[in-house]
Amino acid sequence: MKYIDEFRDGEQARHIAANIAAEVRPGTSYNFMEFCGGHTHAISRYGITDMLPPSVRMIHGPGCPVCVLPIGRVDLAISLALDRGVILCTYGDTMRVPASDSLSLIKAKARGADIRMVYSAGDALKLAEQHPDREVVFFAIGFETTTPPTALVLRDAAARGVGNFSVLSCHVLTPSAITHILESAEVRQLGTVPIDGFIGPAHVSIVIGSQPYEHFAQEYRKPVVITGFEPLDVMQGILMLVRQVNAGRAEVENEFSRAVTPEGNLAAQKLVSQVFELRESFEWRGLGEVPYSALKIRPAFAAWDAERKFDLHYASVPDHKQCECGAILRGVKRPADCKLFGTVCTPESPMGSCMVSNEGACAAHYSYGRFKDMKVVSA
Ligand code: SF4
Repeated sequence: MKYIDEFRDGEQARHIAANIAAEVRPGTSYNFMEFCGGHTHAISRYGITDMLPPSVRMIHGPGCPVCVLPIGRVDLAISLALDRGVILCTYGDTMRVPASDSLSLIKAKARGADIRMVYSAGDALKLAEQHPDREVVFFAIGFETTTPPTALVLRDAAARGVGNFSVLSCHVLTPSAITHILESAEVRQLGTVPIDGFIGPAHVSIVIGSQPYEHFAQEYRKPVVITGFEPLDVMQGILMLVRQVNAGRAEVENEFSRAVTPEGNLAAQKLVSQVFELRESFEWRGLGEVPYSALKIRPAFAAWDAERKFDLHYASVPDHKQCECGAILRGVKRPADCKLFGTVCTPESPMGSCMVSNEGACAAHYSYGRFKDMKVVSA
Protein backbone atom coordinates (compact mmCIF):
# COMPACT_ATOMS: atom_id res chain seq x y z
CA MET A 1 0.00 0.00 0.00
CA LYS A 2 1.63 3.22 -1.15
CA TYR A 3 2.76 5.55 1.67
CA ILE A 4 2.03 2.90 4.34
CA ASP A 5 3.94 -0.36 3.72
CA GLU A 6 7.14 1.38 2.69
CA PHE A 7 7.15 3.24 6.02
CA ARG A 8 6.70 0.01 8.05
CA ASP A 9 9.55 -2.01 6.56
CA GLY A 10 11.30 -3.97 9.34
CA GLU A 11 14.60 -4.24 7.49
CA GLN A 12 14.74 -0.47 7.02
CA ALA A 13 13.84 0.06 10.68
CA ARG A 14 16.74 -2.16 11.78
CA HIS A 15 19.03 -0.21 9.44
CA ILE A 16 18.01 3.15 10.96
CA ALA A 17 18.31 1.68 14.48
CA ALA A 18 21.87 0.58 13.66
CA ASN A 19 22.67 4.13 12.48
CA ILE A 20 21.27 5.61 15.69
CA ALA A 21 23.31 3.15 17.78
CA ALA A 22 26.45 3.98 15.78
CA GLU A 23 25.97 7.74 16.07
CA VAL A 24 25.10 8.18 19.77
CA ARG A 25 28.14 9.32 21.69
CA PRO A 26 29.37 7.48 24.76
CA GLY A 27 28.56 9.45 27.92
CA THR A 28 25.88 11.58 26.20
CA SER A 29 22.22 11.13 26.99
CA TYR A 30 19.52 12.07 24.52
CA ASN A 31 16.10 12.93 25.96
CA PHE A 32 13.51 13.60 23.28
CA MET A 33 9.90 14.56 23.88
CA GLU A 34 7.30 13.43 21.37
CA PHE A 35 4.68 16.13 21.85
CA CYS A 36 1.94 14.50 19.83
CA GLY A 37 -0.24 11.60 21.04
CA GLY A 38 -0.08 10.05 17.56
CA HIS A 39 3.67 9.58 18.02
CA THR A 40 3.18 8.21 21.55
CA HIS A 41 0.80 5.62 20.08
CA ALA A 42 3.21 4.73 17.24
CA ILE A 43 6.20 4.42 19.60
CA SER A 44 4.29 1.98 21.84
CA ARG A 45 2.57 0.09 19.05
CA TYR A 46 5.70 -0.59 17.00
CA GLY A 47 8.04 -1.16 19.96
CA ILE A 48 10.30 1.68 18.86
CA THR A 49 11.85 2.23 22.30
CA ASP A 50 13.11 -1.40 22.22
CA MET A 51 15.11 -0.55 19.10
CA LEU A 52 16.88 2.44 20.66
CA PRO A 53 20.13 2.43 22.63
CA PRO A 54 19.69 2.97 26.41
CA SER A 55 21.08 6.52 26.14
CA VAL A 56 18.12 7.59 23.95
CA ARG A 57 14.98 8.16 26.02
CA MET A 58 11.59 9.07 24.60
CA ILE A 59 9.40 11.21 26.87
CA HIS A 60 5.63 11.39 26.33
CA GLY A 61 4.40 14.97 26.07
CA PRO A 62 0.99 16.65 26.43
CA GLY A 63 -0.04 16.25 22.80
CA CYS A 64 -3.17 14.14 23.19
CA PRO A 65 -6.14 16.56 22.99
CA VAL A 66 -8.37 14.35 25.16
CA CYS A 67 -5.68 13.95 27.84
CA VAL A 68 -5.08 17.68 28.30
CA LEU A 69 -8.77 18.58 28.62
CA PRO A 70 -9.23 19.71 32.23
CA ILE A 71 -12.06 18.38 34.39
CA GLY A 72 -13.63 21.84 34.72
CA ARG A 73 -14.24 22.05 30.97
CA VAL A 74 -15.95 18.63 30.87
CA ASP A 75 -18.06 19.76 33.85
CA LEU A 76 -19.24 22.78 31.84
CA ALA A 77 -20.33 20.51 28.98
CA ILE A 78 -22.10 18.12 31.36
CA SER A 79 -23.95 20.96 33.09
CA LEU A 80 -25.18 22.25 29.71
CA ALA A 81 -26.63 18.83 28.91
CA LEU A 82 -27.92 17.88 32.36
CA ASP A 83 -29.13 21.25 33.71
CA ARG A 84 -29.83 23.37 30.63
CA GLY A 85 -31.44 20.70 28.44
CA VAL A 86 -29.27 21.20 25.36
CA ILE A 87 -28.36 18.51 22.85
CA LEU A 88 -24.62 18.27 23.43
CA CYS A 89 -22.49 16.86 20.60
CA THR A 90 -18.84 15.88 20.71
CA TYR A 91 -16.21 13.48 19.34
CA GLY A 92 -16.19 9.89 20.63
CA ASP A 93 -13.19 9.85 23.00
CA THR A 94 -14.34 13.03 24.74
CA MET A 95 -17.42 11.15 25.95
CA ARG A 96 -15.33 9.04 28.36
CA VAL A 97 -13.09 11.70 29.94
CA PRO A 98 -13.53 11.54 33.73
CA ALA A 99 -15.23 14.63 35.22
CA SER A 100 -16.40 15.71 38.69
CA ASP A 101 -18.66 13.54 40.90
CA SER A 102 -17.48 10.34 39.14
CA LEU A 103 -19.28 11.54 36.03
CA SER A 104 -18.28 11.67 32.37
CA LEU A 105 -20.35 12.66 29.36
CA ILE A 106 -21.25 9.03 28.74
CA LYS A 107 -22.38 8.56 32.36
CA ALA A 108 -24.38 11.80 32.17
CA LYS A 109 -26.03 10.39 29.05
CA ALA A 110 -26.97 7.30 31.05
CA ARG A 111 -28.64 9.67 33.55
CA GLY A 112 -30.84 11.01 30.78
CA ALA A 113 -28.84 13.91 29.32
CA ASP A 114 -29.14 14.27 25.54
CA ILE A 115 -25.49 13.79 24.60
CA ARG A 116 -24.58 12.57 21.13
CA MET A 117 -21.35 11.38 19.59
CA VAL A 118 -20.60 12.96 16.21
CA TYR A 119 -17.93 12.27 13.62
CA SER A 120 -17.56 15.88 12.53
CA ALA A 121 -18.42 19.41 13.54
CA GLY A 122 -20.65 19.50 10.45
CA ASP A 123 -22.80 16.67 11.89
CA ALA A 124 -23.52 18.85 14.95
CA LEU A 125 -24.68 21.75 12.77
CA LYS A 126 -26.90 19.38 10.76
CA LEU A 127 -28.48 18.19 14.01
CA ALA A 128 -29.26 21.80 14.96
CA GLU A 129 -31.00 22.33 11.63
CA GLN A 130 -33.01 19.13 12.14
CA HIS A 131 -34.10 20.22 15.65
CA PRO A 132 -34.94 23.95 15.42
CA ASP A 133 -36.88 23.70 18.71
CA ARG A 134 -33.77 22.58 20.69
CA GLU A 135 -30.46 24.25 21.56
CA VAL A 136 -27.54 22.24 20.11
CA VAL A 137 -24.01 22.79 21.46
CA PHE A 138 -20.87 21.36 19.87
CA PHE A 139 -18.22 20.64 22.53
CA ALA A 140 -15.13 21.35 20.40
CA ILE A 141 -11.75 20.05 21.48
CA GLY A 142 -8.40 19.52 19.80
CA PHE A 143 -5.24 21.09 18.49
CA GLU A 144 -4.74 23.04 15.26
CA THR A 145 -5.87 20.00 13.24
CA THR A 146 -9.49 20.03 14.39
CA THR A 147 -9.84 23.81 14.65
CA PRO A 148 -10.48 24.58 10.94
CA PRO A 149 -13.60 22.31 10.75
CA THR A 150 -15.01 24.06 13.85
CA ALA A 151 -14.29 27.47 12.28
CA LEU A 152 -16.08 26.31 9.14
CA VAL A 153 -19.29 25.31 10.96
CA LEU A 154 -19.30 28.57 12.93
CA ARG A 155 -19.02 30.51 9.70
CA ASP A 156 -21.75 28.36 8.09
CA ALA A 157 -24.06 28.70 11.12
CA ALA A 158 -23.69 32.48 10.96
CA ALA A 159 -24.20 32.59 7.18
CA ARG A 160 -27.32 30.40 7.36
CA GLY A 161 -28.64 32.11 10.52
CA VAL A 162 -28.87 28.88 12.55
CA GLY A 163 -29.76 30.50 15.87
CA ASN A 164 -30.10 27.34 17.98
CA PHE A 165 -26.48 26.23 17.41
CA SER A 166 -23.38 27.19 19.42
CA VAL A 167 -19.86 25.95 20.14
CA LEU A 168 -18.10 25.42 23.46
CA SER A 169 -14.56 26.06 22.26
CA CYS A 170 -11.70 24.18 23.94
CA HIS A 171 -9.28 24.39 21.02
CA VAL A 172 -5.64 24.59 22.12
CA LEU A 173 -2.36 25.60 20.47
CA THR A 174 0.77 23.49 20.18
CA PRO A 175 3.70 25.98 20.08
CA SER A 176 2.59 27.80 23.26
CA ALA A 177 2.34 24.52 25.17
CA ILE A 178 5.84 23.47 24.07
CA THR A 179 7.18 26.83 25.21
CA HIS A 180 5.38 26.46 28.54
CA ILE A 181 6.95 23.04 29.13
CA LEU A 182 10.38 24.63 28.81
CA GLU A 183 10.02 27.89 30.64
CA SER A 184 7.15 28.08 33.12
CA ALA A 185 8.09 28.52 36.75
CA GLU A 186 5.07 26.43 37.72
CA VAL A 187 6.24 23.46 35.67
CA ARG A 188 9.72 23.72 37.19
CA GLN A 189 8.14 23.69 40.63
CA LEU A 190 5.89 20.74 39.82
CA GLY A 191 8.82 18.86 38.39
CA THR A 192 10.25 18.48 34.92
CA VAL A 193 12.68 16.38 32.95
CA PRO A 194 15.66 17.33 30.82
CA ILE A 195 14.63 17.67 27.17
CA ASP A 196 17.22 17.74 24.39
CA GLY A 197 14.84 17.98 21.46
CA PHE A 198 11.29 17.52 20.21
CA ILE A 199 9.62 15.24 17.70
CA GLY A 200 7.30 17.85 16.16
CA PRO A 201 3.62 17.02 15.49
CA ALA A 202 2.65 15.73 12.07
CA HIS A 203 -1.02 16.62 11.45
CA VAL A 204 -0.80 19.91 13.37
CA SER A 205 2.17 20.95 11.24
CA ILE A 206 0.26 20.24 8.02
CA VAL A 207 -2.02 23.11 9.10
CA ILE A 208 0.41 25.55 10.76
CA GLY A 209 3.55 24.61 8.77
CA SER A 210 7.07 24.31 10.15
CA GLN A 211 7.73 28.05 10.54
CA PRO A 212 6.05 28.52 13.97
CA TYR A 213 8.73 26.30 15.54
CA GLU A 214 11.66 28.36 14.18
CA HIS A 215 11.54 31.07 16.83
CA PHE A 216 11.06 28.45 19.50
CA ALA A 217 14.06 26.36 18.36
CA GLN A 218 16.30 29.42 18.22
CA GLU A 219 15.07 30.98 21.48
CA TYR A 220 15.30 27.82 23.59
CA ARG A 221 18.12 26.09 21.67
CA LYS A 222 16.10 22.87 21.30
CA PRO A 223 16.06 21.02 17.99
CA VAL A 224 12.67 20.13 16.49
CA VAL A 225 12.14 17.47 13.84
CA ILE A 226 8.63 17.35 12.39
CA THR A 227 7.92 13.69 11.82
CA GLY A 228 5.20 11.48 10.30
CA PHE A 229 3.36 8.81 12.26
CA GLU A 230 4.69 5.66 10.60
CA PRO A 231 7.46 3.75 12.42
CA LEU A 232 10.18 4.57 9.89
CA ASP A 233 9.20 8.26 10.09
CA VAL A 234 9.65 8.22 13.85
CA MET A 235 12.96 6.29 13.69
CA GLN A 236 14.30 8.69 11.05
CA GLY A 237 13.14 11.69 13.16
CA ILE A 238 15.05 10.33 16.17
CA LEU A 239 18.18 9.85 14.04
CA MET A 240 17.89 13.46 12.81
CA LEU A 241 17.57 14.69 16.41
CA VAL A 242 20.63 12.66 17.49
CA ARG A 243 22.61 14.24 14.65
CA GLN A 244 21.51 17.77 15.65
CA VAL A 245 22.48 17.17 19.30
CA ASN A 246 25.87 15.78 18.23
CA ALA A 247 26.50 18.79 16.03
CA GLY A 248 25.30 21.29 18.68
CA ARG A 249 22.58 22.49 16.31
CA ALA A 250 19.07 23.60 17.28
CA GLU A 251 17.07 23.83 14.07
CA VAL A 252 13.66 22.95 12.75
CA GLU A 253 13.93 20.04 10.32
CA ASN A 254 11.10 18.47 8.38
CA GLU A 255 11.15 14.68 8.05
CA PHE A 256 7.48 14.75 6.96
CA SER A 257 8.07 16.78 3.81
CA ARG A 258 5.55 14.65 1.90
CA ALA A 259 2.80 16.53 3.79
CA VAL A 260 4.27 19.51 5.68
CA THR A 261 5.45 22.76 4.09
CA PRO A 262 7.11 25.75 5.82
CA GLU A 263 3.97 27.91 5.59
CA GLY A 264 1.31 25.21 6.11
CA ASN A 265 -2.27 25.43 4.90
CA LEU A 266 -2.84 29.17 4.41
CA ALA A 267 -6.54 28.84 3.57
CA ALA A 268 -7.18 26.95 6.84
CA GLN A 269 -5.14 29.50 8.83
CA LYS A 270 -7.14 32.38 7.30
CA LEU A 271 -10.45 30.71 8.12
CA VAL A 272 -9.39 30.08 11.73
CA SER A 273 -8.26 33.66 12.23
CA GLN A 274 -11.58 34.98 10.86
CA VAL A 275 -13.53 33.10 13.52
CA PHE A 276 -11.17 32.68 16.51
CA GLU A 277 -8.85 34.87 18.57
CA LEU A 278 -6.31 34.08 21.29
CA ARG A 279 -7.46 33.44 24.85
CA GLU A 280 -5.34 35.20 27.46
CA SER A 281 -5.06 31.97 29.43
CA PHE A 282 -6.40 28.42 29.37
CA GLU A 283 -6.04 25.57 31.84
CA TRP A 284 -4.42 22.38 30.53
CA ARG A 285 -4.56 19.17 32.51
CA GLY A 286 -1.02 18.60 33.72
CA LEU A 287 0.31 22.02 32.79
CA GLY A 288 -2.03 24.34 34.69
CA GLU A 289 -2.90 27.77 33.26
CA VAL A 290 -0.94 28.35 30.05
CA PRO A 291 -0.95 31.92 28.67
CA TYR A 292 -2.12 32.43 25.09
CA SER A 293 -2.42 28.69 24.50
CA ALA A 294 -6.03 28.40 23.33
CA LEU A 295 -8.62 30.01 21.10
CA LYS A 296 -11.90 31.71 21.87
CA ILE A 297 -14.64 32.70 19.46
CA ARG A 298 -14.44 36.28 18.13
CA PRO A 299 -17.14 38.78 19.23
CA ALA A 300 -18.53 38.85 15.66
CA PHE A 301 -19.66 35.24 16.26
CA ALA A 302 -20.81 35.80 19.87
CA ALA A 303 -24.31 34.52 19.08
CA TRP A 304 -22.76 31.09 18.37
CA ASP A 305 -20.40 31.08 21.36
CA ALA A 306 -21.85 28.75 24.05
CA GLU A 307 -19.81 30.44 26.81
CA ARG A 308 -21.51 33.78 26.12
CA LYS A 309 -24.90 32.40 25.15
CA PHE A 310 -25.28 30.36 28.36
CA ASP A 311 -23.19 32.69 30.58
CA LEU A 312 -20.79 29.88 31.52
CA HIS A 313 -18.07 30.44 34.13
CA TYR A 314 -15.06 28.17 34.26
CA ALA A 315 -13.96 26.67 37.59
CA SER A 316 -10.77 24.65 37.94
CA VAL A 317 -11.18 21.17 39.49
CA PRO A 318 -8.23 19.11 40.80
CA ASP A 319 -7.57 15.60 39.46
CA HIS A 320 -8.24 12.46 41.51
CA LYS A 321 -5.59 12.47 44.30
CA GLN A 322 -3.87 9.25 43.20
CA CYS A 323 -4.02 9.97 39.46
CA GLU A 324 -0.60 10.79 38.01
CA CYS A 325 -1.89 12.14 34.67
CA GLY A 326 -0.45 15.60 35.44
CA ALA A 327 3.07 14.25 35.97
CA ILE A 328 2.77 11.96 32.94
CA LEU A 329 1.69 14.85 30.71
CA ARG A 330 4.74 16.83 31.85
CA GLY A 331 7.00 13.83 31.11
CA VAL A 332 8.02 13.53 34.77
CA LYS A 333 6.49 10.08 35.34
CA ARG A 334 5.72 7.02 33.24
CA PRO A 335 2.34 5.23 33.17
CA ALA A 336 3.53 2.31 35.31
CA ASP A 337 4.55 4.80 38.04
CA CYS A 338 0.84 5.36 38.76
CA LYS A 339 -0.56 3.08 41.47
CA LEU A 340 -3.89 2.90 39.63
CA PHE A 341 -2.41 1.78 36.30
CA GLY A 342 -3.89 -1.45 34.97
CA THR A 343 -5.82 -2.20 38.15
CA VAL A 344 -8.31 0.49 39.09
CA CYS A 345 -7.59 2.40 35.87
CA THR A 346 -7.96 0.61 32.52
CA PRO A 347 -9.16 1.71 29.05
CA GLU A 348 -12.57 0.13 29.84
CA SER A 349 -12.82 2.06 33.09
CA PRO A 350 -10.49 5.10 32.97
CA MET A 351 -9.82 7.04 36.17
CA GLY A 352 -7.65 9.60 34.43
CA SER A 353 -7.66 11.22 31.00
CA CYS A 354 -4.42 9.56 29.80
CA MET A 355 -6.23 6.18 29.76
CA VAL A 356 -9.12 7.34 27.56
CA SER A 357 -7.86 7.89 24.03
CA ASN A 358 -5.56 5.43 22.27
CA GLU A 359 -3.21 8.41 21.88
CA GLY A 360 -2.93 8.75 25.68
CA ALA A 361 0.35 7.58 27.22
CA CYS A 362 -1.37 5.24 29.71
CA ALA A 363 -3.72 3.71 27.13
CA ALA A 364 -0.84 3.19 24.69
CA HIS A 365 1.31 1.53 27.35
CA TYR A 366 -1.65 -0.57 28.56
CA SER A 367 -2.34 -1.83 25.02
CA TYR A 368 1.20 -2.45 23.84
CA GLY A 369 3.74 -2.38 26.65
CA ARG A 370 2.39 -3.37 30.04
CA PHE A 371 3.48 -7.01 29.95
CA LYS A 372 7.12 -5.90 29.76
CA ASP A 373 6.73 -4.39 33.25
CA MET A 374 5.66 -7.69 34.80
CA LYS A 375 8.09 -9.99 36.53
CA VAL A 376 8.40 -13.40 34.86
CA VAL A 377 7.58 -16.15 37.37
CA SER A 378 7.92 -19.88 36.90
CA ALA A 379 4.71 -21.89 36.68
S1 SF4 B 1 -3.08 5.04 35.09
FE1 SF4 B 1 -5.02 6.17 35.01
S2 SF4 B 1 -5.10 7.35 36.87
FE2 SF4 B 1 -2.97 6.71 36.59
S3 SF4 B 1 -1.99 8.36 35.48
FE3 SF4 B 1 -2.72 6.94 33.95
S4 SF4 B 1 -4.76 7.69 33.42
FE4 SF4 B 1 -4.20 8.74 35.33
